[in-house]
Amino acid sequence: MPITAAGSWPPHFPRSLEYPDVPAGSILAGAAKRYGDRTAFTHHDRSLTYAQTYGAACRFANALRARGIGPGATVAIHLPNCLPYPIAYYGILLAGATFTPANPLLPPADLAHQLADSGAVAVVTLGKVAPVLTAVRAQTAVELVVVVAPDDLADDQVEFQAFLADQPDTRPELDIDTRTHLAHLSYTGGTTGRSKGVRLPHRNVVVNTLQYACWGTGSLPALDDDGDLTLDQIGSPDEWPTRLGTGSGINLTPWFHAMGTIGGLNVPVMSGGSTTLHDRFDPVAYLADAERLRVTSIGGAPALFAALLASPDLATRDLSSVRGISSGAAPLPHEMLKALAARFPDAVISEGYGLTEVTMGATINPAFRSGLRKQGSVGVPVFDTEVKIVPLEGGEDPVPEGEQGEVCIRGPQVMAGYHDRPDETAAVLVDGWLHTGDIGVLDKDGYLSIVDRKKDMLLYKGYNVYPRELEELLIAHPGVAAAAVVGRKQDDVGELPVAFVVRAAENVTEAEILSAVNDNVLPYKRIRELRFVDEIPVSAAGKILKRELRQQL
Ligand code: AMP
Repeated sequence: MPITAAGSWPPHFPRSLEYPDVPAGSILAGAAKRYGDRTAFTHHDRSLTYAQTYGAACRFANALRARGIGPGATVAIHLPNCLPYPIAYYGILLAGATFTPANPLLPPADLAHQLADSGAVAVVTLGKVAPVLTAVRAQTAVELVVVVAPDDLADDQVEFQAFLADQPDTRPELDIDTRTHLAHLSYTGGTTGRSKGVRLPHRNVVVNTLQYACWGTGSLPALDDDGDLTLDQIGSPDEWPTRLGTGSGINLTPWFHAMGTIGGLNVPVMSGGSTTLHDRFDPVAYLADAERLRVTSIGGAPALFAALLASPDLATRDLSSVRGISSGAAPLPHEMLKALAARFPDAVISEGYGLTEVTMGATINPAFRSGLRKQGSVGVPVFDTEVKIVPLEGGEDPVPEGEQGEVCIRGPQVMAGYHDRPDETAAVLVDGWLHTGDIGVLDKDGYLSIVDRKKDMLLYKGYNVYPRELEELLIAHPGVAAAAVVGRKQDDVGELPVAFVVRAAENVTEAEILSAVNDNVLPYKRIRELRFVDEIPVSAAGKILKRELRQQL
């Protein structure tokens, strides 16, 4: 895809990166040598340096190998973010096994489905949620259960630290084909039926991590003396606010989601960042810690920014250390972007876009100072990535520039396919182009904007109504803290737009909000019903759960 705008591509950078042919575990191995004594992760009053994380991950890998678990076997992590997570995650990769991330709050049927479908032979779980696993274990091939913080341990379970004990902290030998051997088998699409496994070979993880780490820190991939992955900083410090080995942030994005695994776990490790974990989101505690830790970056889904912007502490805390703000996973409303820019005038704010099927991401706004950031756009394709827009009705030929259609992505981070679902794979992967199911538009400079998801679009008397357009108008109203729009089926017209609104002020009225939206849109797009609610349901990864709202109708 031609990118013509000056400033949309990093200065001094090639368009294409050379991706070393190394397994994904090399990301931590390289970082451990370069940043050994630096704190990698902190949770409550405990921390792990890079060297400690790597040593423990090697022990975890050897413990798996000792039980015959290595290349060809799949291991699930069924944990919230906690210090054992990166140890187990990199341990699985260093053992050559495949990681499948499971949300620890999955209902029993969904957990059973994922474990059975992925063929997982081992699970790392948390004492508190282990009973769900125990209840479904007979439906799966799980032979080994490693428990973090067990309440009480069953005979066939092993405590996490005991599992690592006595294992050597040297990396096991690994001989795999990085292009075919799976690093991740990630499950997605649960809101539309049974979730599907996304096949992501080691190369995808290395590529997508480098695409974002290099873009964000002004670096090029390199190999250290042992042939492990490292980065060469080539961009100037004036251009890149985030330098290798200096970043710090608070992590809330769950590591079981693509944005967490790549954006919150791999990219910070690759670039030598320090990550502090919070168990749950509390804006007051978040902002206090951001000040205390002098965090350099704030990243997450728009729901995080909405809550931060609503907190009075945002104005009073000293957040002058923040240099970068990144948003993804769901649309960042324009009003929120403007408010963030006003509060953090010196920070580079960049929104990115992706989906599990591209490992994590495909586009991003420039992360360097002179980069041209376009408000409301999710930026330009990252290195070696192409984006095209095709007609919603079908067909592979791109629509003219500026027209809406389905977003398609081609690049080395696109999945190898869905696990055991050849028909569903063939339906979305055509000549290497992934059909995303998102509706978007490319402008003359190659910047992508996401209009909505195909499956969230409403049809009113045959006209397309994009809920996102209405949500943007709702959120722009000062009396609205959060909003979501879904369709109510009505036989004579199709679907009627219904708004769910969280009030920001007690005295705001329905009529006032409705007129702020309906006076500014074409008649067929008007919101027909408005319901005030206490909160909008959002997934752990920060996506509005529209299915739940439709059920309420
Ligand atoms: P997942 O596979 O769970 O990461 O979900 C991917 C979906 O999230 C995409 O197909 C988009 O619909 C949505 N999404 C991700 N990032 C953005 C963004 N920046 N703006 C709008 N939608 C997004």
